[in-house]
Amino acid sequence: MSAGVLIVGAGHAGGAMAAALRQSGYAGAITLVGAEPLPPYQRPPLSKAWLKGEAGPDDLLFRPPAFYSDKSIGLRLSTRVAAIDRTAAAVTLEDGQRLPYEHLVLATGSALRALNVPGVASTGVLELRTAADAERIKAALAPGRRLAVVGGGYVGLEVAASARSLGAQVVVIEREARLLARVASEPLSAYFARCHAGHGVEIILGASVTAFEERAGAVAGVRLADGRVIACDVAVVGIGALANDALAAAAGLECNDGIVVDERCRTSDPAIHAIGDCTRRPLPRYGRTMRLESVPNALEQAKQAAADICGRPAPKPEVPWFWSDQYDVRLQIVGLPFDVARQVVRGDANAGQFAVFHLDADNRLQAVEAVNAPGEFVAGRQWVGARQQVDPARLADTGLTVKQIIDPAAPGAAGKP
Ligand code: NAP
Repeated sequence: MSAGVLIVGAGHAGGAMAAALRQSGYAGAITLVGAEPLPPYQRPPLSKAWLKGEAGPDDLLFRPPAFYSDKSIGLRLSTRVAAIDRTAAAVTLEDGQRLPYEHLVLATGSALRALNVPGVASTGVLELRTAADAERIKAALAPGRRLAVVGGGYVGLEVAASARSLGAQVVVIEREARLLARVASEPLSAYFARCHAGHGVEIILGASVTAFEERAGAVAGVRLADGRVIACDVAVVGIGALANDALAAAAGLECNDGIVVDERCRTSDPAIHAIGDCTRRPLPRYGRTMRLESVPNALEQAKQAAADICGRPAPKPEVPWFWSDQYDVRLQIVGLPFDVARQVVRGDANAGQFAVFHLDADNRLQAVEAVNAPGEFVAGRQWVGARQQVDPARLADTGLTVKQIIDPAAPGAAGKP
């Protein structure tokens, strides 16, 4: 048997890649190398069901461990790749062992941005990326414990919501002037600020963390640039993620804040593909390249790379989408708000059910952010993909059903058959 496909990284992207290769009929050897001790598992529950004790280890796994032996997928866990030797078509592991490849797939993901301030190494200053991280946070939370969350992005807000449901006191400290500043529009930020405040979370915006105060080696507070100290028993830092592209860059592959790939996930070396958070990928719908940190992106790129390696037609391009669950709120986002000329809010943010539609200058739908509004999300997904032009006034008119927005003859409006 040939050296086959070697996949570096056993997260969402790597795990999906191994499965997609077999689904695409790949009959050669497949080896999946992962730094963590677990077979591929799902990260989204870590900040939600896992923290709240509603999911156990088996609920996290993508596939039962027997899947990998049944499909002849070699798992090398707790194993790190130290270097890629492109000339010899082999990787070197940290222990010096070499593994040859015919095709190499880099699915190295992203790493959490570090907060380099004094006291960050104190006991109780935690972060959330892996199941082991989530376990440490879970063990630190209890009714009455004071949690300070640094970063009001997805990690920070999902952890805050879970911690509240566990009875902890929570403060969220965000550097920007609004929550979710990097990933959502102003109406969403305002809605989530009200929602968290309504659940008893204190939110501090525009605040810079300068140090963690410690007492006997354990975190006791978060010091802000304005001199305030926010007392806490535990802190979770969630201030963004950076592409793990160092291995690729050291091997001379083209990188630019992410491993540069084409629409079939090929890198600048024809024997090497890259998928998931670690890539900078084309977005055909928007005529741009971008790094996407999301599960749907990892799954889409796994399918693209598997099809390419197996010589199959490329799968249909998907529109990027994201989701987040906080309390009883489901946020679903489809598309990206590039070239937006106007935003239209449909529904009532105060009632906790609304959607923000982002239109370009020709009223083509670029993105939709839907809060407890699955109909708007599903329709938006089709319309964004189809570059649908939508009348802003009809979008805002909740007297029309979602279907009637673009098809006045569709049934289902109030009072219509
Ligand atoms: P994120 O969404 O980028 O949010 C991080 C936030 O922290 C940003 O608003 C950032 O502001 C802010 N920040 C940066 N430095 C700060 C500082 N020194 N003090 C206070 N705030 C600071 O990233 P994340 O929430 O940490 O998530 C990490 C990764 O997990 C991402 O890949 C994310 O997509 C993924 N994740 C996704 C989900 C989901 O999709 N539901 C859930 C959990 C995790 P700036 O913009 O100014 O840097």
